[in-house]
Amino acid sequence: MKNDILIVGAGFAGSVTARELAEAGLTVQVIDKRPHIAGNAYDEPDAHGILVHRYGPHIFHTNGERIFQYLSRFTEWRPYEHRVRGVVGGRMYPFPINRDALNQLYGLDLDEAGAAAFFEQVREPREPVLTSEDVVLNSVGRDLYEKFFLNYTRKQWGLEPSELKAGVAARIPVRTNTDDRYFTDTFQAMPLHGYTKMFEAMLDHPNITVQLGVDFEDVRERETFRHVVYTGPIDAYFRYVHGPLPYRSLRFEHEHLADIDQYQETGTVNYPNEHAYTRITEFKHLTGQTHRGTSIVREYPQAEGDPYYPVPRAENEALFKRYEALAKAEPNVTFVGRLAQYRYYNMDQVVGAALAASRQLIESLR
Ligand code: FAD
Ligand code: UDP
Repeated sequence: MKNDILIVGAGFAGSVTARELAEAGLTVQVIDKRPHIAGNAYDEPDAHGILVHRYGPHIFHTNGERIFQYLSRFTEWRPYEHRVRGVVGGRMYPFPINRDALNQLYGLDLDEAGAAAFFEQVREPREPVLTSEDVVLNSVGRDLYEKFFLNYTRKQWGLEPSELKAGVAARIPVRTNTDDRYFTDTFQAMPLHGYTKMFEAMLDHPNITVQLGVDFEDVRERETFRHVVYTGPIDAYFRYVHGPLPYRSLRFEHEHLADIDQYQETGTVNYPNEHAYTRITEFKHLTGQTHRGTSIVREYPQAEGDPYYPVPRAENEALFKRYEALAKAEPNVTFVGRLAQYRYYNMDQVVGAALAASRQLIESLR
């Protein structure tokens, strides 16, 4: 046996776990079927030298000081607070909806108490709040729901908001102040030299070997390990015995615009009602890079393709539970990460889950 541990996937879940196990003295082999590390957080310079995120915009934010400190071992940071606009009726409004958005949209001059009273007046109280439709109607009422949420959600998920659990739309706050940041977490920053460089540092340990372009399917029967950490889709691990778990996919359309310094006023602009894409992100906002041109990405949601999002709805969670029961009974395998745990995790949550899984695993292997 060459190594103690096989880790499937070199994204946040796999790379954090690899580092923790390596530091505990175990030898670790990491494989990924893609030709690169960093999973969906992978970034690289495009043909014009602009650092782009191949799998869509990744903005790091967390309230977990421990998680921020942990990653700080592998990167320096560039402070960055993400801002988003939503285009409605051809005009751009701050998104998440805040007081300025209300005032601009309806030609009002509300102060904070006025904005709170406005929401109170237009909201459609729902009890209980179970779906994403409930969340939005309950907080901002039907007009804002139809302008900013309904069609975006249909595009992003191919489902009605009423078919998605409350947690999806609940990611988006509603504000009576004029804060136009997308996130309000204590720590908001981008890895100074990019995500891929941070992952290189994380995986740079004498106990870790990384093999790229290797699919678990091709090694699972051939090699034996003391333990496997699996971070891919859980249904694939069990060869879809209970049927496929729905994961939402995207097609990314990258474009470089020569001799344009800035394409749009904020890092991301959302298009709830027009176009087949949901949003456009301009990378220079995120990275602070200076360049005479600029690079953008459009995200087109689709059902088929690489799995990017679990689809949070009751029937999918019931199916996941059946896979989770198999996972619990599977000897010597740990399932961790957004695809393996079928949870709509942000990066920091995956780091937290990987640190917890590593602690348990190190304990059990002692
Ligand atoms: P992944 O990054 O998906 O890594 C899993 C790896 O396993 C992949 O590299 C895959 O190739 C590999 N793999 C799978 N199956 C096999 C196999 N059979 N054999 C070998 N290798 C295999 N989070 C934020 O915090 N902020 C953001 O702004 C943000 N934006 C996002 C935007 C988009 C468009 C998407 C899709 C996600 C975004 N996220 C964001 C979420 C973030 O990408 C995830 O939380 C995180 O990357 C998940 O890490 P992971 O290791 O669990 O999974
Ligand atoms: N959403 C929306 N309109 C928007 C932005 C988001 O309706 O302009 C809803 C949509 O259902 C989306 C969810 O809120 O899937 C979460 O948005 P977020 O930006 O957090 O999604 P992610 O960045 O994870 O794709």
